[in-house]
This record gives sequence, structure tokens and C-alpha cells, in this order.
Amino acid sequence: MSARVLVVDDIEANVRLLQAKLEVEYYEVLTAPDGLIALEKAALDQPDIILLDVMMPQMDGFEVCRRLKSNAVTQHIPVVLVTALDGRRDRLTGLEAGADDFLTKPIDDVALFARVRSLTRLKRVIDELRQREASGRRLGVIEGSAARLSASGARIIVADDLAHQAERISGELALDHRPVIETDPEKALLAVRARADLLIVNAASKGFDGLRLAAQVRSDEATRHIPILAVVDQDDRPRSVKALEIGINDILSRPIDPEELAARVKTLIRQKRYSDVLRNTLDTSLELAVTDPLTGLHNRRYMNTQVGALVQRAVQGGDPVAALLVDLDHFKRINDTFGHDVGDEVLKEFAVRLATNVRGIDLACRYGGEEFVVIMPGTALKDALRIAERLRLHVAGSPFRAPGLAEPLSVTISVGVACTEGPTDTPDALLKRADEAVYEAKAHGRNQVVTRAA
Ligand code: GH3
Ligand code: MG
Ligand code: MG
Repeated sequence: MSARVLVVDDIEANVRLLQAKLEVEYYEVLTAPDGLIALEKAALDQPDIILLDVMMPQMDGFEVCRRLKSNAVTQHIPVVLVTALDGRRDRLTGLEAGADDFLTKPIDDVALFARVRSLTRLKRVIDELRQREASGRRLGVIEGSAARLSASGARIIVADDLAHQAERISGELALDHRPVIETDPEKALLAVRARADLLIVNAASKGFDGLRLAAQVRSDEATRHIPILAVVDQDDRPRSVKALEIGINDILSRPIDPEELAARVKTLIRQKRYSDVLRNTLDTSLELAVTDPLTGLHNRRYMNTQVGALVQRAVQGGDPVAALLVDLDHFKRINDTFGHDVGDEVLKEFAVRLATNVRGIDLACRYGGEEFVVIMPGTALKDALRIAERLRLHVAGSPFRAPGLAEPLSVTISVGVACTEGPTDTPDALLKRADEAVYEAKAHGRNQVVTRAA
């Protein structure tokens, strides 16, 4: 997987060295000799990852990072701070500035590529979701997503069988989050599946293989989006590399620095919540695309995607499919007499009566205006007629109440019923017969159920 990397360093030799290493691995490399140019290029060229030197004249890496992370155009781009100093202070300042990770000069190749790979993988996911959200917004189905996301109150599973270390981690996190310690990998997996914002796994646990647990969480459809932080011994480089290879999101080296723990957890939780919001708006937009907003019933588009397969199965010898087409009688009068808002309330109340009068597998939809369709799989004509008659009585039998109505309002419906027939029937023909039956019901005085044979 290739990616576009922006390398920022004031010393040209450093830039050249990193550029050469990355280009050998087919990464596309952009470069910037100082902070201001870096900010410009980041916004304009949208790299997948930024390798940012800390020690630069004028504007240091921390400040560049802060500005990248406070600009909506660049805040989703992962930033790796490259520092000559392995000092704890610098790491903490970097994390507070919003950096996603660190590399220490001289740069170790394996660590470099593992890090670049892991962070670009994350960015791909976020990009994809951002893109879908943007196209959803163009379709006008998304109201706008949560801009401010809290990074506290997270449910964090700590999978670790070193009691004192687990206690320390959990103690630190309990200030802001809800940590749960699991010393058994099976139980940890169940806890993660139940609900988790983050899994912290000790890759050097005594009684179980922490990386195996991490790999299980990664490969399970239900949990693969949950971030994982692996705790690895500082000098155990092969294990760090392995951890990144199997897709964990970040590494914390032992002995654990509590502030580094807190800051790193904060970054991962933020990333998780960001993805969640996008995922949720995506679900919402999909739901809106198939739902009628006034009544909450399925819309016509959704019905059209479902009815074809049902009818096809029926005409090929499967169970018959029945269709009810329901039209409210003299609905225009209700609008004209009481106003459009009361009309809307009547439609909503009717939708409730309709939905509660059909089975769960029946497809009840608002077909348009004051027309509704119910598609009923596995239903013969005589049963469909019985159901239609029951619905008609349920509507005509008790008047509608609505805010804005002084008196309960008497409402009636005309229902056309049709059922699949013969080997060449189609959804269009089925609905056309139901429609003709409604027409007949209207002509014969409304408030009745009519069927028409093919
Ligand atoms: P008929 O018994 O022959 O069906 O008469 P009708 O008045 O029900 O039928 P017509 O098709 O003449 O009028 C339907 C009306 O439904 C016209 C339209 O303004 C109204 N309508 C369509 N959609 C909505 C809606 O979402 N809300 C409200 N309040 N009215 C709607
Ligand atoms: Mg009508
Ligand atoms: Mg009508």
C-alpha cells in the first residue's frame, strides 16, 4: 500500500535521507524545509502522513503540530514527530500538541515503515468515512455531525495478567475513563465484544499471548474497528514490529510512563470517536434513504428494491405474494378544512394503524402522498382480503385524534388487493392490478376493499 508522505526538516541532509528510504519503498514523498511551508503543503496536497522534525528555527515542530491539529483541513492527517532527543518531556509536549506518534533520530527503518503503514491504514479508514459523509451531505440526507468530541468516559479493557501493572494502568485511567481489568484472554475478548472504546493489551503477559488476543480482536468483524494499544518491553523491538504488523494502533513501552499512557489513550479514543460519528452518520444516512421521514414507514424506493425478488420467487413456484394499495378517502378535504399540519397528523396516525395491523415480515411503505402499499410475502388472495378488511374497519371504526382538531375525525380508506398469478407476473403488473382495484373502490363509494383478478 503506497502513501503520500510529507517530510518536514530544516536540515536538508535529513530530508534527503528520509526521502531516499521512503522512495525505495515506493512512497510518494513531499518535502518542506520549515513549518510555514509544511502547513501550506499539508493543507494543499493532503498527504497521508507527516513526518515532522521537532527542532526547527522560527516555528518548532510542536507549534506546527498544534496548528495542523487545529485546522479542520489538516487535523485528520497523522503526525509523527521526529526528535533527536529521547526525552520524556518532548514526547509529552508532542502528545499534548496532538502528535500521533514519535520516531527518534537516527531513524530505525523497521520502526519507520511499521509506523507509516499503521498510521496510513488508519487514515484510509477515516478518509473513506469522510468521503461517504460528504457525498451523503450532497444528497441532503445528513443533518451535520458532532463537531466536538469528548475524549473521556471511555470503556477501556485492560488485558494484562501482571497484577501490579494492570492496577497501575487502570488507576491512571480511572481519572478520566472506565477501565476494566481482565486477566484471562477469553474474558477479555468477551468484554471487548460486549462494548469497548479501546483495548490495552500487555504483549508480554505471562499466562497468555497478548498479540494473539490482539489479532483475534482485529480479525473479528464486530470488533475490528476498536483501537488496540500494546504494552511492549522497551528493548523488545521484534515484538513491537510484530504488533504493528498485525494491526495494533499504537505501542506503549515498559516501564510505563503514566502521562504518556494518558496522552496516548486520549489520541486513540479521539480517533475512535471520530470514526464512530462518521459510521453513525453513515448508518443514519442509509436509514434516511430507505425511510419516509413523516411516517417512519419504508419509502417507495426501498419497496422497489425488495419487491422484485419476492415476486420472482412467487412466480417461479414459491409462495404467493399479495399487495395492498391503500388510499385515504377525500384526504384533500381534510387538508382544506383543517390545514396541512392536521393532514400530516392524520397520515402519521394512519401509518401507526397500518404498521400495527400487519406482520413483521410484511413490507409497509408510504407509496406517495396519501397512498400506502403493503407487500405481504407468503399470503394468498383470500387472506390478503381478510387483512385488508380488518385494516379498513380499524380505520373507519375509531375516529382519528390529532392536535389541532377540536373533535375526533372520521377517516376512511379504499383498499385495492392483488396477488401474484401465473408464471409471467411482475411487480409492476401486480401493483397495477391493485391500483385498478382502488379506482374501482373509489367509483363504488369509497370505504371498501376491492380485488381484481389478472
Ligand atoms: P380520493 O378519495 O379520491 O382519494 O380523494 P383525495 O382527496 O384523497 O385524493 P387526491 O389525490 O385528490 O388528493 C390527495 C391530497 O393529499 C392532495 C395532496 O395535497 C395531499 N397530500 C399529499 N401528500 C401530503 C402530505 O404529506 N401531507 C399532507 N398534509 N397532505 C398531502
Ligand atoms: Mg390519491
Ligand atoms: Mg385519496
